[in-house]
Amino acid sequence: MAGLLNIPKFVDFRNKVMRHPTLKFPVLNLKGKTTIAIHHSLTKQGLGGSNAESYALYHVQTNGWPSIGYSYVIEPDGTIKFCNDIELRTYHVGNHNNYAVGICLTGDFRSENPTAAQKESLRNLVQALQKAYPHLKYVKGHNEFSGYEWKACPVFDYKKVLAEKGTVSKPTTLPNTYTIQQGDTLWSVSKGLKLTVDDLTKANPGIKPTQLQIGQKINLGTAKVEKPKNPTVNTSKPETGIKVGQKATLKSTASKYATGENIPVSIKGKAYTVQQIKSDRVLLKEIYSWVRKADITGGTSSAVATKPKKLKAGQRVKLKSSASKYATGQNIPTSIKNKNYTIQQVKSDRVLLKEIYSWVKISDIQ
Ligand SMILES: [Zn+2]
Repeated sequence: MAGLLNIPKFVDFRNKVMRHPTLKFPVLNLKGKTTIAIHHSLTKQGLGGSNAESYALYHVQTNGWPSIGYSYVIEPDGTIKFCNDIELRTYHVGNHNNYAVGICLTGDFRSENPTAAQKESLRNLVQALQKAYPHLKYVKGHNEFSGYEWKACPVFDYKKVLAEKGTVSKPTTLPNTYTIQQGDTLWSVSKGLKLTVDDLTKANPGIKPTQLQIGQKINLGTAKVEKPKNPTVNTSKPETGIKVGQKATLKSTASKYATGENIPVSIKGKAYTVQQIKSDRVLLKEIYSWVRKADITGGTSSAVATKPKKLKAGQRVKLKSSASKYATGQNIPTSIKNKNYTIQQVKSDRVLLKEIYSWVKISDIQ
C-alpha cells in the first residue's frame, strides 16, 4: 500500500482502473524498488482512448494482465492518476519490473510534446516519490534500461524537465481547489488527498455529494466553522444503529453504488449482510459492493423477491445494444454490443463474458 502521495493534482485511481477478476500483480519488497521508469503512452493526447482508464482496459482485455502496467499516469491536464501500489511488480520494462516503478505520461512524444501541466506534475511526482521512498535513487527513461535501447520511449527530454524549476510544491501543501473527474465521489477525493469527507463538506457548504458534476471545482481548504447549510449533506455522520453483521435492505430507489456505477434492478429491494462500515457507506457482503448509507434501511425487513435470471457458465447470451457501461464502470464500445457471448463466470449482479473477457451487468444481457 505504498505510493499514495499528498501533492497537487494527485488522484487515487486504484479502484477506478479495470482489474482482472482473478489475476494479481506479485507483491514485492518495497525497499527493492530503486528506480523510477518514465514512459509515454504512444497515444495522441485528446484521443478517446488516450487515458489511464483505456490503458487499463487494453492491458487487461487484450494483454490479459492483472491491470494497467504503470503505477502512475500523468494526463495532459496534469492529473496524476495513482493506479498501482509501487511495491507491486507491474509490467512496463520486462526483466526490470522487479526494481522499477512505472510512470507514464499520456501522449505520443514522437510528434507532440508533454504539456506544461504534465511537466510540472512529473517534477512534483518524482520529487515526492524520492522524498517519501529514498530507496528510489534513480530515474531512467524506458530506453535507458538494457535491452530497450531501440525503444522510442519516452522520447522527450525528461532530464531537462526534471531539472527545470517549476513551481514545485511542497508535498505537504494542498491545492486550494480540486476539479471533479469522472467517477469521483467525495469519499474517493478525500481519500486521495488524505482529507476526510467531513473536511470536504465543511469546506464546501451546500455541496450535494450525490450530485457532483464532472468539471465542478470544490474547495479543499480545511474546515473552518460554517456548518453545511444543506441538511442533506450529513454524509459523514455515522448513522446510528448500523452494525457489522446486521442485515440491511438496499432501497429500491437506490440508483448508484457508492463507487459510482449503476445498481442493477435485480439486486435492489433485498436484504444483505453489512460487512464493513465507513462514514458514508457500507460494504454489503453478498454483493461485495459499497453502497451509500442513504440507500439502505436497517433491520431485517423481508426481501421483495424480484426473480433473478437463471444464468450459468457455458450459456450463450446477447449483450444488449442499450448496455452502456461494463460492471467495472468503463464504457462499452459499440462494436461489441448486440452480439452473442459465452458466460464464463456468474456473480450476483454480473457475468464474465468469455470472448471479450469482460464483466457486464446482468441487467445488460438478454
Ligand atoms: Zn515505455
